[in-house]
Amino acid sequence: MLSDRLVLLGTKGGPAIRAGGPNPTSHLLVMDGRPFVIDCGLGVTRGLVEAGLELRDLRTVLITHLHSDHVLELGPLIHTAWTAGLSHEVEVWGPVGSAAYWDGFCASMAFDMGLRVADEGRPPLGEMVRVREFSEGPLALDGVKASALRVAHPPVTECFALRLEVPGWSIVFGADTAYFPPLAAFATGADLLVHEAMLMAGVDALCARVGNAERLKAHLLASHTPLEDAIRIVQEAGVGQLVLNHLVPCDLPGYGRDVWEAAAGAAWPGGPVLVGYDGLTLERAA
Ligand SMILES: [Zn+2]
Ligand SMILES: [Zn+2]
Repeated sequence: MLSDRLVLLGTKGGPAIRAGGPNPTSHLLVMDGRPFVIDCGLGVTRGLVEAGLELRDLRTVLITHLHSDHVLELGPLIHTAWTAGLSHEVEVWGPVGSAAYWDGFCASMAFDMGLRVADEGRPPLGEMVRVREFSEGPLALDGVKASALRVAHPPVTECFALRLEVPGWSIVFGADTAYFPPLAAFATGADLLVHEAMLMAGVDALCARVGNAERLKAHLLASHTPLEDAIRIVQEAGVGQLVLNHLVPCDLPGYGRDVWEAAAGAAWPGGPVLVGYDGLTLERAA
């Protein structure tokens, strides 16, 4: 069993992937020995395996919102865990629409899922997954205290920051959000905040490469948080450690980790800021 830790499995903002670049958003959090998967962007299944999780030990998945870079691989993850020997119920906590996603995935895989029950004697997967759609407020997770806060991610209204804690250790995931001051109160006193970040100098260059530049830039500015504002949240909240994820841009020439670290250092000299990368592992302090 894995010791308590947070592993960033995917740290890229947005759904596209490129050679040598990071994956979209997903995390493994092991808290009091219980594994939680937070978001399921492309690459989550491989990331969990490489992080040392036995897929058949999957129990609880939380989805912050239904943008594809956070949910695209949810079905494939659960299905792959099933073929790896999963034999207990999996709880999926997600916003309204999560049940429809799961039902649609099962419908798309009906041939294979039926075959593996009849041919391999596996338990019916559809009956092993319990989707629990949530909104703002406390979440009845097994063994940890958890709550959700609606954040500002237009045009998505069902997008939630998550706080998970056990005695002596608390972690907050900011989800995708524009600069959202109430997140500071939600994260107050946490040991660690995982917050998205955008380097404004890179936004124009990114938009030019991806195309549809004006619309994309308008979306980024309305729905995401500049690095300096993520730091403001942490300074106000008194959080012990800021970990930046959902980096925009991050696989663009000239915007590698060295540039990000320099920008973070300039924005908060000596501050407790870590620039996330795929595989970054933070063990719970003893
Ligand atoms: Zn996203
Ligand atoms: Zn999003």
